[in-house]
Amino acid sequence: MRLVRVAVPVPALDSLTYCLPDGVAVPPIGARVLVPLGSRVLTGCVVEADGQEDDDREREYAGRVKPVLQILDSESFLPDDVIRLATWVADYYACGIGEALATAMPPLATGKRGGPAPSFRTVRVARLTAQGLDVAARDDGGSGDLRLGVRQREALALLTAAPEGLETARLASSGIGPQALTRLSGLGLLTFTRRQVERDPFQAGSSSCTAPRPEVVLTPEQESAVERLRSLAAQNIFQTALLHGVTGSGKTEIYLRLASEVRSAGRGVLVLVPEIALTPAVAQTFRSAFGERVAIQHSGLSDGERHDQWHRIRRGDVDVVVGTRSAVFAPLRGIGLVIVDEEHDGSYKQEESPRYNGRDVAVMRARQAGALAVLGSATPSMESYQNAQNSRYALVTLDRRVLDRPLAEVRIVDMREEYETSGPDVVLSGVLCEAMRERLERGEQAIVLLNRRGFASSVFCRQCTATLDCPNCSVSLTVHRAANRARCHYCNHSSPLPKACINCSGPYIELVGFGTERVEAEIRLKFPAARVARVDRDTIRKRGAISALLGRFAAREIDVLVGTQMIAKGHDFPRVTLVGVISADVGLGLADFRASERTFQLLTQVAGRAGRGEIRGEAIVQTLFPNHYSIQHACRQDYAGFFQQELKFRQAMRYPPALALINAVVKGRTQHGALRDAGELVQALRAGTSQPYRVLGPAPAALSRLKGEHRAQFFLKGTHRGAMRQALLAALSTRPEIRRRTIVDVDPMSVL
Ligand code: ADP
Ligand code: ZN
Repeated sequence: MRLVRVAVPVPALDSLTYCLPDGVAVPPIGARVLVPLGSRVLTGCVVEADGQEDDDREREYAGRVKPVLQILDSESFLPDDVIRLATWVADYYACGIGEALATAMPPLATGKRGGPAPSFRTVRVARLTAQGLDVAARDDGGSGDLRLGVRQREALALLTAAPEGLETARLASSGIGPQALTRLSGLGLLTFTRRQVERDPFQAGSSSCTAPRPEVVLTPEQESAVERLRSLAAQNIFQTALLHGVTGSGKTEIYLRLASEVRSAGRGVLVLVPEIALTPAVAQTFRSAFGERVAIQHSGLSDGERHDQWHRIRRGDVDVVVGTRSAVFAPLRGIGLVIVDEEHDGSYKQEESPRYNGRDVAVMRARQAGALAVLGSATPSMESYQNAQNSRYALVTLDRRVLDRPLAEVRIVDMREEYETSGPDVVLSGVLCEAMRERLERGEQAIVLLNRRGFASSVFCRQCTATLDCPNCSVSLTVHRAANRARCHYCNHSSPLPKACINCSGPYIELVGFGTERVEAEIRLKFPAARVARVDRDTIRKRGAISALLGRFAAREIDVLVGTQMIAKGHDFPRVTLVGVISADVGLGLADFRASERTFQLLTQVAGRAGRGEIRGEAIVQTLFPNHYSIQHACRQDYAGFFQQELKFRQAMRYPPALALINAVVKGRTQHGALRDAGELVQALRAGTSQPYRVLGPAPAALSRLKGEHRAQFFLKGTHRGAMRQALLAALSTRPEIRRRTIVDVDPMSVL
């Protein structure tokens, strides 16, 4: 019996053993196969196959393994190195190999039943036959005996000039409809075929993406950074460099130069960028620089587009890939450089299984490929900066903005004073309003950030103190005024806004707290003539909405852009001279060990959007905690100062990067049940005598109820991730029923 190991896309499963029916050739590793699992048929991926007949195994497995139903690929579909990377991910993040491989698969690669869906787009093409060419070549254009009509003769003429044939849609747009073509085909003059075409995501954008880029002369600081990175890349061995450059220091230009070098040396370049907002701009920059040999991969593309891009990469038609998180698994060959832009960004972490961090997987990919990894950021993650401090990463620094443009001047507005003078309802401080008025008068632009969407954070009854809470989650509902609904931001439950209290029917309903929708309304009220737009998850639901909005802002059709953290990232708008931050401390209230780090990063990044053109920028930060160190350091744009202080906190509290952390959440139908099951796991973990880790918990999770499930949580802290993972998996393996309800998050981004 010949056996193969197959990874199937089912959570927390190891690869499974199947046998090959007699007479079937052994599939290569990386080929897709259809296999039965229980009553289902799944598309899996072969991860081991030797094809050897082995008597011992025969006896061991006889009657116990099922046969592979169908082999879908005669050559490997996923390349070896991607399988190796996914195997590492499965091990490191303690998930199933099938889940990890499913992440590496392009869309449409695994059909629900019966194999892959028809995945390439084809178009109908009409083409002259030999007889047709003959007729068309006659002096009379074929109008003689055949009595062809005008349209039919036109078709012959057009098709003569196109020996490869023409799309019928294209002929139709020249006025030649199906009737004329059918007649010609009936006469044997032409045939129809189908041709595969590629869905090109760049076409959908503007034509500007292929416009040549203006020549840029590097600043001396950029020059030496490129030089340093170039020499690292030229060594053709695995290394990691942290490119720490202040906002506006021209990091993109450095990536481009470096990518160009590595590409000329015949090696591939993989570029990761954060989710949604940033991608089109960076992707287009690379597209203009490298033309056709670039592929992009991000969630804004349709499945079809992503599928086609993936196959271009797989065929070797590209040598630069730009994409978000999952592009780290792109089937690009001979990688010599992996760039992770804005490496600190939270969107690199996938918040569902496999819970991998694209940045860390990128470093592993570089390692497996013997390539240089470059992590770039103005506000590096604590982890990466510590690695640079420990000399595990080479540190390359850019202290200045290009053309010596100064960083924005930052002013803090203490909102406690503002409340005293203007009452507790104030959203925009006097200082911010005045600054906005000046900008509007001068025709400059402003960005206003509040990292909380909706109109109000909750509804509260002044008579009976009842709040409007989500029936499925332990949070209050957010008021969305335009939609006239109260909505849960975790499970999307929504209800119409009540006119009276749902508990006591009293009429004294108060809106508590505010979000971006309210800020937008306040600005419109204060500045009726200003053109205001909002960017948050509510306004960019439709595909392409965000790039349309940002495009209008870039074209100066919008004066003030209000939004959540989406507007803080990477954008380069030279006419923005003012950045306002409302409630800079929104994130500090969260019981999360990264709260200060996130606040610091967000404030530094958003302040960095101001003054990127010729006029100096200004940032105004409204807060109730003007003395908090993350706000203070952000206002001084003092990264090193923040890092030192934050590291002390992490060391004292024994949090990453001082230690490794695993977060485990057990879900249950009742709080009691969840806690009991989590307790059982904790007990098993504490049982051994000298474990090299500590277990904390169990306790109800900060979000104790989510989507109708109760959640209990415990942590593992230690210095050896491997040992921690193994212990946890061992505890789970003897309790498969609890395992199904347990989320394991290695290196969590957030522990809520
Ligand atoms: P960062 O990513 O470091 O914040 P960007 O790469 O977005 O900065 O660069 C900021 C702006 O400066 C961009 O408009 C870019 O085209 C421009 N730029 C970069 N390098 C130079 C240079 N050497 N001379 C002039 N402009 C530059
Ligand atoms: Zn909910």
